[in-house]
Amino acid sequence: MTSSPRILVTGGSGYIAGVLIRQLLAAGWQVHTTVRDLKREPGLRQRLGVAPGDEQLRCFAADLLADAGWAEAAAGCSHVAHLASPLPAGVARDANELIVPARDGALRALRAARDAGVQRFVMTSSVAAIAYGHGPGEHHFDESDWTRLETPGVPAYIQSKTLAERAARDWVAREGGRLEFCTVNPSVVLGPVASADYSASVVIVRSLLEGRIPALPHIGFGIVDVRDVAELHWRALTAPGMAGERFIACGGFLWLREVAAILRAELGEQARKVPTLQMPDWAVRLLARVSPTLRTVASELGTLRHQDATHARDVLGWVPRPPREAIVATARDLIALGVLKR
Ligand code: NAP
Repeated sequence: MTSSPRILVTGGSGYIAGVLIRQLLAAGWQVHTTVRDLKREPGLRQRLGVAPGDEQLRCFAADLLADAGWAEAAAGCSHVAHLASPLPAGVARDANELIVPARDGALRALRAARDAGVQRFVMTSSVAAIAYGHGPGEHHFDESDWTRLETPGVPAYIQSKTLAERAARDWVAREGGRLEFCTVNPSVVLGPVASADYSASVVIVRSLLEGRIPALPHIGFGIVDVRDVAELHWRALTAPGMAGERFIACGGFLWLREVAAILRAELGEQARKVPTLQMPDWAVRLLARVSPTLRTVASELGTLRHQDATHARDVLGWVPRPPREAIVATARDLIALGVLKR
């Protein structure tokens, strides 16, 4: 009898990791996961529906900023899905707060994986590593594109994801040995929210529902459902011949005003605080002089980034849901969880 595969999923407390781990457990895989503090293990088990002591899930303490714990977490695993990376809700004061854990943490996970004889390593990168620093206007991106870090004003999170993926690919080429490495590069991830400890990407829907955004700036972003992102990881973990691959995960680009319109159309009275007013570009630029958040928004005005997920469809048969489903699922779960301040 062959034993079921054993995988390390880093950052088990995370939004995408939670959905992926549930899928892996349901398929009978043995799952190792990392948390920064083992005090989180009981809550994580409860959220994932795994009883205390059930060895199908094992938790290890490991921080992206330190060597301790990574070798133990990877021991015995044939696969790694590396999702842990800081994803802040606001603007970082010092870019290194994000760059150092993202880049050095990815290298720690890679070294541990190679030393443990892991065969397949799937890293969760981002369209942040693909589609930024190319200037305003309309752009079409695919997996051959890279974010231009030499462009002034690239935000810290975008720098962190670009530098981490570059460093990981360089390391694998130099020192990876037989490790098969590929990346999944999602756009903004929305969809069902399992707990009040949700990812920063969900905050945009919360802010609209809470009426924190008085008027809608002319910005937009690619959106993908968390269930589809987990599914793409699954396919990248299990399909043959993935070495060097890169897969954009995007269900489509929407302007913020379209996101707001979907919430109003689908949620009725529960979306009463979602704004209808557009914020003129000149007003965004004026307010950007005093607000770091609006400074980031001002640099995005009118920029349309098509993120082409054809490659994932052609190679892996991956077909994402339309963004509308992800947006509505986020909103309904945030309302059901009772976390909105209204
Ligand atoms: P999340 O819910 O914030 O999860 C991030 C995970 O990283 C958490 O488990 C967090 O642990 C862990 N982490 C952060 N800093 C760490 C450190 N110093 N040491 C160890 N672990 C650390 O975010 P997510 O949305 O699931 O994102 C998962 C991955 O997808 C990330 O790599 C992110 O960049 C990428 N991604 C996300 C989106 C999106 O829109 N959500 C889009 C593209 C790519 P704690 O719980 O201890 O903080």
